[in-house]
Amino acid sequence: MTKTRLAIVGLGKIARDQHVPALAASDSFELVGVASPHNKLDAVPSYPDMEALLQAVPGIEAVSLCTTPQVRYAAARFALQRGLHVLLEKPPGVTVSEVNALTALARKNNVALFASWHSRHAPGVEPARAWLEGRNIRGATANWKEDVRVWHPGQTWIWQAGGLGVFDPGINALSILTRIIPTTLVLKQAGLRYPANCETPIAASLVLADANGVPARVELDFLHTGGPPQWDIDVDTDGGRLSLSKGGGEMRLDGETVPGLRGGEYPGLYAHFAALVRGRSIDVDVSPLQLVADAFLCGRRQEVEPFVE
Ligand code: NAP
Repeated sequence: MTKTRLAIVGLGKIARDQHVPALAASDSFELVGVASPHNKLDAVPSYPDMEALLQAVPGIEAVSLCTTPQVRYAAARFALQRGLHVLLEKPPGVTVSEVNALTALARKNNVALFASWHSRHAPGVEPARAWLEGRNIRGATANWKEDVRVWHPGQTWIWQAGGLGVFDPGINALSILTRIIPTTLVLKQAGLRYPANCETPIAASLVLADANGVPARVELDFLHTGGPPQWDIDVDTDGGRLSLSKGGGEMRLDGETVPGLRGGEYPGLYAHFAALVRGRSIDVDVSPLQLVADAFLCGRRQEVEPFVE
């Protein structure tokens, strides 16, 4: 099978940690170039921007946009207008309207567009979705807590408008909840804690409700120090409690670990992108980003101590 010639745009932490290895193992994609202002990848032609990359490397068919969120829209427009298939890292844009505009552009140009949510490809997520289908949900909680100094060192963009602050990891919890809860989740309340020197929140408490009014509480915290990160979801149902931990990597039913879960987030993500490319299809679900936008719309703001890394 001929592999799709793909380039990475934005060679930062996630591109190096996940995209490069997943592409190296992929039967469907060949990594043929990189566009990143300051970084280069050994043995792969690397250029400071997409224009230079496309001029120098022939036949690029697809790009994975692993940049900071604030520049994703311009990069995606550039690529879609040139007929490239596009994978967007999460969050797919800084605003919901950006993502909707990209969807329309992809459709117009008949190319694949994938607003990826890597956590949805964690091994526990599809089994959790299947288990919850048809059960009555009585409540859900998500705790997404990590030490920002450990997980995002030097990433000043997180604290700038559009960088999402604690919602940068927190949107992963929302991407899982919106996938596994069978009905549409609605945001009801939000409390957002902003360091005095930052444009984005360092902690947030959300209350959501499903279509039956059943509450889901979400706690996000970037100042979770001294222990491992907590990336946990519990859903109580008439058939017992389902728990996902390690960001969806592990699943338990009433405390008993479900054995034999398989698959990796980024291999799964690229397998799905390959199917979208073959069909020139669009997979854009804005619901996690919409919930974050809603939290910013209705959230009560509280100022807290300045953040110093
Ligand atoms: P990062 O380490 O700060 O990397 C961001 C990269 O974006 C930088 O290396 C920078 O390239 C590049 N960039 C900035 N402006 C650009 C432009 N105009 N054109 C091309 N590249 C540009 O951040 P990250 O952790 O990899 O996160 C990037 C995205 O992935 C975020 O949306 C994040 O939410 C998502 N993500 C991160 C993780 C994680 O664990 N870190 C996990 C999943 C998803 P130069 O360095 O060359 O200037």
